[in-house]
Order: sequence, then structure tokens, then C-alpha cells
Amino acid sequence: MQRLLYEARDTADRLGVPVFLIGGSVRDLIMDVGNFDLDIAVEGDGIGFAKDYARTLKAAWLAHKRFGTATVTVKPHLKIDVASTRRETYPAAGALPQVKAGSLIHDLARRDFTINTLALRLNRKGFGEVVDKFNGRKDIARKLIRILHDRSFIDDPTRILRGIRFEQRYGFHIEPRTLACLKAAVRRDALSSVGPQRVRDELHLLCKEKHPLKSLKRLQVLAGLHFIHPRLSLSSAKQQLLAQAERQVSWFENQLPPHRQLDTWLVYFLALLDGLSVNDVHAVCRRFVFRKGEEKRMLVYAASRTRVLQALQKKEIRPSEIYHLLEPLSFEAIIVLKAKAAGKGVQRHIELFLTQYSGTRISVSGDTLAGFGVRPGPQYQMVLRRVFDAKLNRQVHSKEEEVALARDLARKPYD
Ligand code: ATP
Repeated sequence: MQRLLYEARDTADRLGVPVFLIGGSVRDLIMDVGNFDLDIAVEGDGIGFAKDYARTLKAAWLAHKRFGTATVTVKPHLKIDVASTRRETYPAAGALPQVKAGSLIHDLARRDFTINTLALRLNRKGFGEVVDKFNGRKDIARKLIRILHDRSFIDDPTRILRGIRFEQRYGFHIEPRTLACLKAAVRRDALSSVGPQRVRDELHLLCKEKHPLKSLKRLQVLAGLHFIHPRLSLSSAKQQLLAQAERQVSWFENQLPPHRQLDTWLVYFLALLDGLSVNDVHAVCRRFVFRKGEEKRMLVYAASRTRVLQALQKKEIRPSEIYHLLEPLSFEAIIVLKAKAAGKGVQRHIELFLTQYSGTRISVSGDTLAGFGVRPGPQYQMVLRRVFDAKLNRQVHSKEEEVALARDLARKPYD
């Protein structure tokens, strides 16, 4: 990371533009919290800087001309955001701001909280100097979340969610005047005036936190959850479910190989929506314009959770039954079911699915079946499924036994 900053310094001096590390990167650097995001602000042509910077780093870069920003990708997980410093004005509450070029100070003044207004000079002259126009360092030391002006939450109500998220992440407090402004914005139902997709993006970030339950509890107290759906609240049962979900996410991350990725935010969002009907979940998905894949995972969960949990409670249940109950669900939904499962038995069934059954493959293929004269169609499907189930249920133990079973089934007339 240091090397990247030194390269930024050299590029900045070569181009003769003032360049700063800015926002969350500086906040976390000062707090000594790990953060692999680098945000760079250029007082001048940010895109021109990004182009040169990427060339020295031999990294890929992409400009977003409309916003005067660019992303430099050093490694797949190491991206540097570069922006030209800008100033913003809000034509109407909750609307997107009007943006034009501005100085560093303008850029800092448009930010959400004082702790995010720090900048660190990267030019050789003054390298490492902290620009702190809004007492951000003092607020970090006092552990306070503070807005820059009283209209802040009205201008941009998504800051309500952001403030709660930072407060809970760092164990800070929203300072009294900021809290009063936040409550006033909530009384005006400010969160309903924002474009739903912006609210969705902040909810997404909130649910991506390590411990989202803390923020959700605080949100319930300060703003309620009806802005997500009128029938949504954080009952104590829901809180228990979310707490369990956090444990089950840790379990998954410890037990499953790293390539089995989990969209953890979706686990928590599913748990949050748990109890809403399929229609209600559908309404939430439409309002917040979730992606198709996300919507599908939410709807399948809402439609099948009760039936699947009940079926998994059966004492005598074969591995193949467990497989076919859980297979249509996403891993995120399965983790929520595991969090919901009251008995150890159900939990065990789900663990077996995730750690063993879900990776099952059989050696019998379409070619094998073609050799037995079976063509794609219902009988073909039936044979494959029976061999698959037999493998799960340990009725066949080798490739030869699988093939022998397929041959037997292929000879029988399809019923
Ligand atoms: P995180 O650690 O969650 O990534 P971050 O501070 O880097 O925190 P981002 O959402 O990446 O958060 O935003 C980058 C910076 O942009 C913030 O530090 C903040 O200064 C500014 N910012 C983001 N959203 C807003 C907003 N709604 N209003 C004002 N400033 C914002």
C-alpha cells in the first residue's frame, strides 16, 4: 500500500497537481483499522492523473467520464478510486446533487460526517500532512459521528443509514445535535423521499457489515423499518434469528472451502425479511430493484422455507430426500434455514447437505446411457436421478456399481 502511495506522489509531482488520499482510507489509517480501499482525490484532472498513475503501476484503469472519476485495478481485490475534487449542491431534498468541479475544501464540505472529511497530502512537498478542516480527528478521538451542517440528513437521507453503520461499526456515538437532526429527518419521513435504489445500496452496505444486527437494532429504534416494508419490524424473535444467522455465517466460513462463496449481506437480508409473505417480498424486490438473481433467491426462500423446515424435521430421512429439499435453495437461504432450525437434527441434515451431499457427482453420463440405448427424455432423467439418489443413499459404492444400476434401470420399461 505504501508503494502505491509513493507512486501516487511521484505521478502527482510529475503532473504538477495537488493529490490527496481522502475519506474512509484516511479515517481508517488514523484509527489503525485495516482497509484495503484507497480513495485518491485530485485537485484538477482526476482522469488524466489516473491514466498516468495506472501506466506507472502497469495496472488496468477505467474512466467514468460523466463523474470525472476513474478506477485503477492493481489486482482483482485491490482497486484504487481516483476522483477530481468537486462541489455539490442539492436542488431538492433527497434528489441527486448537482456536481461541478471544486477545490479540496469543497470536496470535503460535501461529505457526510466529520470522520470522513480527512485528507492526507500525497505530493512530495507536505507528503503525509493531514488536512482536517472539520475537526475529524477530534471526533475520531472522542468517538463521535457528527454531520457537517444541520440540513445534512434532509439533503441526503441515506446518511441516516450511513451514520448508524459507522456508529455501530466503530462503537462510536452519534453526537447529540446530529442525533436531533437525524430524528427530525425521520419525523419528516425523509427515507421515503430518497430514490429506492440509493436506499437499497446503503441497506446492502449495512448488511455487509461484520455484525449487522447491531446496526439493524439501532435503525429500528431511530427510524423503524417500515421504509423497507410497512409490515417489517425487528421483533425479538427476528433479532434472535439474525444473531443465529451471524453464528451460522461464521460456521460456513470456517467449515466450507473458500471457493464456496456466500453473499453474507443476502443471508442477513433474507433473515430480516423472514416472515413476510411471498407477495410482500416481491413488493420489496420491485421497489428496491434488486437484481434478478437476488430476487429469485429471496422469492424461493419465502415460498419454501416453512415446507422445507417441516420436511427436514422427519427423523427417518434419506440423504436423497435432504438433497432434493435443499437443492433448489441458494446457500444463503440454506444458512438462514440452519439459523431458524430449532432442533439439532435439522441442523445436522443441513450440515450434511452443505459439506457432503451438495458436491455429489455421478460417473454415469449421457454417453453411458446412450450405450444402453437410452436417449434424452423422461427415462433418461429417471435413470440419472435414480443412480444419483442411490449414490447419495450409499446403495452404490463405485463407478462399476453405478453403471450396473444404470444398465438395470435402462432395461426396465419406464413407469
Ligand atoms: P467503508 O469503510 O464503508 O467503505 P467509506 O467511508 O470508504 O467507508 P464509501 O461509501 O466508500 O465509504 O464512501 C467514500 C467517501 O465518500 C466517504 O468517506 C464519504 O466521505 C463520502 N460519501 C459517501 N456517501 C456519501 C453521502 N451519502 N454523503 C456524503 N458523503 C458521502
